[in-house]
Amino acid sequence: MKSLSVPKIAGLLTLAVMMISCIDGSKQGLHKESRFLMGTLVTVTLPGEKQHAARSSSAVLNEIARLEDLTSFHKPSMLNTINDSSGTSPMEVSEELLSIVKLSLVLANQTDGAFDPTIGAVARLWNFSGSGQTRVPPDSEVQEALPLVDWRLVQIDDAAGTVFLPRKGMALDLGGMVKAYALEQAKQTLLRLGIQSALVDIGGDILALGEKSVGQKWRIGIRDPQSQSSIRGIVALKDRFILTSGDYERYLASEGVHYHHILDPRTGYPVQGVRSVTLVVDDSLLTAPAGVFVMGLKKGLVFIDQFSGVYGWIIDADGEVHSSKGAEAVLEGVGGR
Ligand code: ADP
Ligand code: MG
Repeated sequence: MKSLSVPKIAGLLTLAVMMISCIDGSKQGLHKESRFLMGTLVTVTLPGEKQHAARSSSAVLNEIARLEDLTSFHKPSMLNTINDSSGTSPMEVSEELLSIVKLSLVLANQTDGAFDPTIGAVARLWNFSGSGQTRVPPDSEVQEALPLVDWRLVQIDDAAGTVFLPRKGMALDLGGMVKAYALEQAKQTLLRLGIQSALVDIGGDILALGEKSVGQKWRIGIRDPQSQSSIRGIVALKDRFILTSGDYERYLASEGVHYHHILDPRTGYPVQGVRSVTLVVDDSLLTAPAGVFVMGLKKGLVFIDQFSGVYGWIIDADGEVHSSKGAEAVLEGVGGR
């Protein structure tokens, strides 16, 4: 990392989510299948015999589709039955959804509320990832919604299998962790099918399972922000996940202000000062980059450093890249201009 100039790395990581792609491609007999799920393009890449690979990639995509139906904030889903009954009554949900909601609360607790799954009440005002119009909501609407954002209010009844949002209008939006959960389930699906090598990319959140071939890690190419045809850097991964939160994929530019979809639960407005957070993790649910994003540069780096085996890069508002301890270990190389 040190040998690289800041602008190069900045370019490299700024596009980490949007432009991450498997540079190993469909050459060399790799099977690839894509579907639009969870509001983004999902691609499964598998080596191996064609028919088996095709069956396996479909199984993974079906699993992600199932999880979308369970957890979507923007479409009818079991999650939205909880939201619809906010302020009225506890909602009985499946064991799996209950465990996902509980996981989101663990992430909230761990980040001291920087990651807050009850962000839904303000997220729906901005509507960055829903259908329809993204907009800058009037401040009065944001202020009105803010008391509805507080993960500590969520009531879980394990015995009854229910979730209750006690204030009318409260809403769970699990968009900041559900792709990571889906990647873990994709991994389990693949392992059950006897697959030990695969790349699953959910809009830039990626599982690199095993190796591409013996001794060759999966190499994730990151495009040059200014030239779609050149690679700026390569991350080499084996049995790891790469997760990112960025301010550049879902945003709204209005009167010279860049509004984006990572919201500060304390203010209801997009977080300033950070442009992206990229994490390489062994366990996709260990932590969520959106929480680090909200913490900001200084607290965020201290937070990442407390986990062993988690590597991270935070890009600040000036485009400068700040690495967590030892993060260069997973960078294989960097392309030049
Ligand atoms: P990206 O979409 O850039 O990969 P994430 O993976 O962090 O970023 O997902 C962003 C989503 O997380 C938002 O669309 C929203 O659903 C949710 N979100 C936004 N702010 C927060 C927050 N402070 N805590 C929890 N979830 C958040
Ligand atoms: Mg993400």
